[in-house]
Amino acid sequence: MGRAPARHTIDVVRPTFAHIDLDAIRANFRAIMAHLGGDCPAADVIAVVKANGYGHGAAPVARALESAGARMLACSDIEEGVELRRAGVSVPILVFGALSVSDLDGAFTHDLTPTISSPFAARALRNAARRRHATMVCHLKVDTGMNRLGFRYDNLSETLPEVVSGLGLKVDAVYTHFATAEDVTHPLFDQQRERFEQALNQLSAMGVHPRLRHAANSAALLRDPGTWYDAVRPGLLLYGVSPSGRDHGVSLMPAMTLHSRVVAVKGMRVGETAGYGARMAVTHPTTVAVVPAGYADGLDVRLAGRGSVIVGGHRVPVVGSVCMDSITVDVTGLDVTPGDEVVLLGGQGEVTIAAEEVAETIGTVPHEILCRTGSRIVRNYGPDSEPASVQTAR
Ligand SMILES: *Cc1c(COP(=O)(O)O)cnc(C)c1O
Repeated sequence: MGRAPARHTIDVVRPTFAHIDLDAIRANFRAIMAHLGGDCPAADVIAVVKANGYGHGAAPVARALESAGARMLACSDIEEGVELRRAGVSVPILVFGALSVSDLDGAFTHDLTPTISSPFAARALRNAARRRHATMVCHLKVDTGMNRLGFRYDNLSETLPEVVSGLGLKVDAVYTHFATAEDVTHPLFDQQRERFEQALNQLSAMGVHPRLRHAANSAALLRDPGTWYDAVRPGLLLYGVSPSGRDHGVSLMPAMTLHSRVVAVKGMRVGETAGYGARMAVTHPTTVAVVPAGYADGLDVRLAGRGSVIVGGHRVPVVGSVCMDSITVDVTGLDVTPGDEVVLLGGQGEVTIAAEEVAETIGTVPHEILCRTGSRIVRNYGPDSEPASVQTAR
């Protein structure tokens, strides 16, 4: 008889970890619902959990949203949808991506709701449905100006008859996606709205009456109630992050904080540099702290010389290069020792660093900051964000 394999009761936890506040995600979901119309919402929320729940962990985030009352979730491909089902999600799951080159089995076996966004994908799905003597309930995507996925709004009379006639596919909803919702000066937003209306009218004239119409991502949802239709599709807002940085009357709680610890402190002399490339020679005697988080953890290399972290309640600049596994920060004049907590995202005392700020610093959208949180970073779940809780993380 073999012995039972040893149980690993001691987990090794890196000093760099993310804390994910699932209560914040639930509260953000409720805040969005309230914004849409309180107890009697005019529009429903399709909660977007693609890309591993924007880096927060798809399964726990999806279950939290389901428990908060989300009646539909959305992800980007069939594989993500299958993962959500395996995590126990039972509400409908919309798949955004093109299915032209996908293995479609998962959509049937795991009861996913695909998007048909091209004639090719529609054909593939219809054939797969017919082989199973099934009818696939799907959402139809109309391209109103993004020029990515979707049936062109100005060509529907050519392309749609094939999709809406015959067996195999049932168009339950129709949607579009905005390219410039966070830019209030761009004219494309209003054009897309008009084109979507035009497409809806055309569908109706063709005798197609989908149960749902939806269009709004986070930015559109905040910007214009005219985009709410029957459902909205927020991603970013659910995670407590604002697409534009403007005040918008929905109170949000950031769900992710990113923590680390100082592992070394050392002095640099005038003229010396830190890290690869030997750039940015210091002009005064400098004390740097080494923080064991780098681009492999998702930190952008452009944060070198631009970004900050929080140590001892102070904002301190990233000096030298962002390496694969570490950064150096300037802690000159501060009382810092190895072991001290470092906050990369979140707050310490009164000082905070938000995903919006990091995005702004390196010229990207906050979505990217959240999504790129490295796969080796342990996500520690719970309502409290005390760093001590990492000790008990499994
Ligand atoms: C990602 C995505 C969303 C959510 O966008 P946010 O800006 O995060 O709110 C909505 N709809 C589609 C089609 C998407 O791909």
